[in-house]
Amino acid sequence: MTIDLNNLKAGGFIKERGKDLFTVRLRVPGGRMAIPRLKKIAEVAEKYGGEFVHLSVRQSIELININFKHFAAVVEELGEASQKVASCGARVRVPVACGGCEYNPNGLVDTQKSALEVDQKLFGAPTGHHKFKVAFAGCPFDCPKSATNDVGFQGAVVPKLDPAACIRCGLCAKNCTPGAIIMGEGSKPLLDPHPCIWCGDCVKVCPTGAWEAKRTGYNVRIGGKWGRNPTVGTLFATLLPQEDVVEFITRVLAWYKDKAEGLGRIRLGDIIIKEGPQPLLEYLREKFPASVVAETIPPQIIDNQIGARR
Ligand code: SF4
Ligand code: SF4
Ligand code: SF4
Repeated sequence: MTIDLNNLKAGGFIKERGKDLFTVRLRVPGGRMAIPRLKKIAEVAEKYGGEFVHLSVRQSIELININFKHFAAVVEELGEASQKVASCGARVRVPVACGGCEYNPNGLVDTQKSALEVDQKLFGAPTGHHKFKVAFAGCPFDCPKSATNDVGFQGAVVPKLDPAACIRCGLCAKNCTPGAIIMGEGSKPLLDPHPCIWCGDCVKVCPTGAWEAKRTGYNVRIGGKWGRNPTVGTLFATLLPQEDVVEFITRVLAWYKDKAEGLGRIRLGDIIIKEGPQPLLEYLREKFPASVVAETIPPQIIDNQIGARR
């Protein structure tokens, strides 16, 4: 039997060093799964795989040392718990996300809901050029490192003060790490918008509810990637409503496919660097005028410093 390694990889089966053995990458959007599903994975791994599984940095569980003769059985048995295999190659990959706002005290948006929605509607869509990664962070702490994805979403809250409800306890100023809140002598808090990172800590800490969330949504960075030449994506939209996430990614994908035509295996960030950020900003602004920023900078390449050592 001849195995087409490219086709297998597109379906999440990755050839290992050993003869006939593969790593099977599982589809775990947002890194969350119900416990019965986890038990089924353990059962299948024990039956067909090696002595361990690997938890990938993109929240997948990888079954190791699977013989290709067992592919059908592995897929079928995982399917009993609705567990699917992921995909690799030039496609939209499984989105990653932190725990979001359900139980995490810092979470401002429902990242898990967004990750599931993107997985259901866009997972596996071919880009025709290169991989396409998406991540969701619940707040500006950005634990999932969303800015190193092709499109990275970061939960944000714009605070607004109701002065009548303020008792001048000063807690908001003490907890505002960026120093955006100033308590004048005997005065109510004053907000300096420049250092404010929209983390919402003032809203959470205020005992009287004097700080409220004026607007909530995702700040969106585009053009990031990791790897041999790491690049940090830059700010293209602010406070994007959660319900617009899939449409926003779909539009970025359409622009990417069009601009990458004839350029071979190229990532989105490299095209933005080549074209400048303005064309993509304008294209996105047609659909999302309330969220797309007036201007931005190109994705920022991090100098890997290796050339300087030669
Ligand atoms: S990004 Fe924010 S919400 Fe998400 S895990 Fe980190 S601290 Fe919690
Ligand atoms: S949102 Fe965060 S940074 Fe902005 S004022 Fe409140 S605590 Fe400070
Ligand atoms: S935490 Fe609330 S009550 Fe206390 S100073 Fe700030 S706004 Fe006023």
